[in-house]
Amino acid sequence: MKILLANPRGFCAGVYMAIDVVDQLLDICGADKVFVYHEIVHNRHVVDRFRNRGVTFVESIAEVPRDSIVVFSAHGVSPAVRSEARAKNLTAIDATCPLVMKVHAEAIRFAKRGWQILLVGHRNHQEVVGTLGEAPEAIQVVEKPEDIPNLKIIDAEKLIYLTQTTLSLDDANIIIKALKKAFPKMHEPPSSDICYATTNRQTAVRAIAPEAEFVLVVGSKNSSNSVRLTEISENDGTPSRLIDDKSEIDPDWFVGVNTVLVTSGASVPEDLVHGVLEWLIDRFGGEVEQRDVYDERVEFGLPGTLRELMRNRGVDPDSRRIRIDREADTTAWLERKHIPNRTVQVSIRETEGGHQPHD
Ligand code: SF4
Repeated sequence: MKILLANPRGFCAGVYMAIDVVDQLLDICGADKVFVYHEIVHNRHVVDRFRNRGVTFVESIAEVPRDSIVVFSAHGVSPAVRSEARAKNLTAIDATCPLVMKVHAEAIRFAKRGWQILLVGHRNHQEVVGTLGEAPEAIQVVEKPEDIPNLKIIDAEKLIYLTQTTLSLDDANIIIKALKKAFPKMHEPPSSDICYATTNRQTAVRAIAPEAEFVLVVGSKNSSNSVRLTEISENDGTPSRLIDDKSEIDPDWFVGVNTVLVTSGASVPEDLVHGVLEWLIDRFGGEVEQRDVYDERVEFGLPGTLRELMRNRGVDPDSRRIRIDREADTTAWLERKHIPNRTVQVSIRETEGGHQPHD
């Protein structure tokens, strides 16, 4: 079997940073318990691994004892959650992805100017709940074009749309097109809110999936960007399945399949992808071909609140850097396992962004 492995896949800079935040806290907190508000990232294995190391995940601040340490997840929280944490004298470490913070900042800025905001996204997703909480009186959520007739618009010239960061580019474009038709004077966000990691993973699947007869996406069912990858593949005509890990693979999927594309959502640890590759090679033999579509070099620094806590506990935060070397690690792993492999560059482009400190 030929296994095409999409690059980029897996952890984005926001997820690396959020996981690193909890890792660092576990290192420096000693006997202090670490609470995390909501799943730190939407991946079952990441959450279970932290739970096994003593982290307590909560769905409300009421569950966190006074004076404790609480981490806000990568998806962001509303100001109401932040003030609840202050009222309980919690040490709050905000692991919100800076690209989600950007959308919050846009919402606050335009709401202050008296504009109305149409937030394109999934109403119940943690990120949308957080952004909506920044200016609930100014924001209306749009999930689908059918929502448009129900919108209450005061001044169609003081109107802007923003989007959730992890939407399907295609779905978002359909909704935005319908919004522009309904409100031709509506303004656009200063730059796209759909983040680089979502865009790159979707573009890679779209570029490579036509060569495969089946697409395996590693990711959890509640991970928005993972689900979108399966949808893109299916919409373009290649059957696809979303799996948390190799234990969910059904051998029947591969009857008559000679080429399979493997990718993973932005919150998926790479060892789960390795497990899937090993499962496929053990059963079907063949080779792994890494397809490089984008070279991602975006990194986010640790949050200022955590850096301060680390200094207070005698740890130099600057000595701890986030490392992103997924492709090299996987190549080394394939070599160790004696799995035939090669890397093919497909019109590779470097992701813009560089190092974006998160202080
Ligand atoms: S998927 Fe995008 S917005 Fe979400 S954490 Fe990753 S980089 Fe940030």
